[in-house]
Amino acid sequence: MAELIALEVITPQRVLFKEQVEALVIPGVEGRLGILPRHAPMVALLRPGVLTYRQGGQLHKVAVSGGFCEVSDDRAVILADAAERAADIDVLRARRAKERALRRLRSRDRRIDHARARAALERALARLKAAGVED
Ligand code: ATP
Repeated sequence: MAELIALEVITPQRVLFKEQVEALVIPGVEGRLGILPRHAPMVALLRPGVLTYRQGGQLHKVAVSGGFCEVSDDRAVILADAAERAADIDVLRARRAKERALRRLRSRDRRIDHARARAALERALARLKAAGVED
């Protein structure tokens, strides 16, 4: 039998899913990181981006808004502020969030929190990418 990794994606609201997967790639702050069975134990910080995993030879995408990934004993736990499977992403909402964030980043209004707008932009871009609409 093929070796698998037990992948869990957890947010403060819920357990998004638990799946047995063949491999995954996480959006680490230092770059994308591939994880195969028998990976060494580790904790990685995540940036907003796309988590990809392979199951039954098929690739699946999940948008994550940043958080942590812990790997040990062929188990990977993703703890994210927010996470959505590609099929559950509301593309129109993400497009609006992107435009709102860009408007704020371009604004000269000194009351605008640019770091917050940039983080919102990164979440929106991650959602659009996971949904397969990189516009
Ligand atoms: P928005 O401004 O549209 O609310 P946001 O980036 O501020 O976007 P978050 O605070 O990251 O939203 O997420 C709040 C909740 O809404 C989370 O449960 C997240 O999974 C969900 N969510 C946010 N945007 C989307 C989207 N485009 N499609 C599906 N779920 C979304």
